[in-house]
Amino acid sequence: MRHAKCNFPTNYAPPRGNVLLLTCMDLRLMDDIVQFMDHDGLANRYDHVVMAGAALGALGVPAPGRIQVYPHWQTTFLDHLDAAVSLHGIEDVYIIEHRDCGAYSKLINKTFGTSFEEQRRELRAHRRHARLLGRLIGARKATIKVRAFLMDLRGDVELLDW
Ligand SMILES: [Zn+2]
Repeated sequence: MRHAKCNFPTNYAPPRGNVLLLTCMDLRLMDDIVQFMDHDGLANRYDHVVMAGAALGALGVPAPGRIQVYPHWQTTFLDHLDAAVSLHGIEDVYIIEHRDCGAYSKLINKTFGTSFEEQRRELRAHRRHARLLGRLIGARKATIKVRAFLMDLRGDVELLDW
């Protein structure tokens, strides 16, 4: 849904070069994602990789016990990262996680309620996966800067810091 004004974080300098963007496939947020990227001055400057669960998907969907449900998704993501680096010289990766993610309930059986505690638990789960993916990206190419965000269903965005 398009909103007149969303709340976006501004406590960082937006990238000056091209970016690889990883998001979930959730159809409710596609226009909100474009709006956020426009806000960061990145219109037409990002390669968009879409995977169910965003970081969760790009990690190959690590289930409890650390077994990857879809290890080939991780290979696919890293291949896309390599392609984005060589084709567009990307130096930054944006990971946009989102609340109420169907992949979390369908793929790893994790659901979150709407209470304050549940919302914190949801944020922590997304931050953990984004951080793990950030490490994986760093191991692939140490100079890439990774920023992760959590979007809610209004399209509001917060920075996931670690
Ligand atoms: Zn999702």
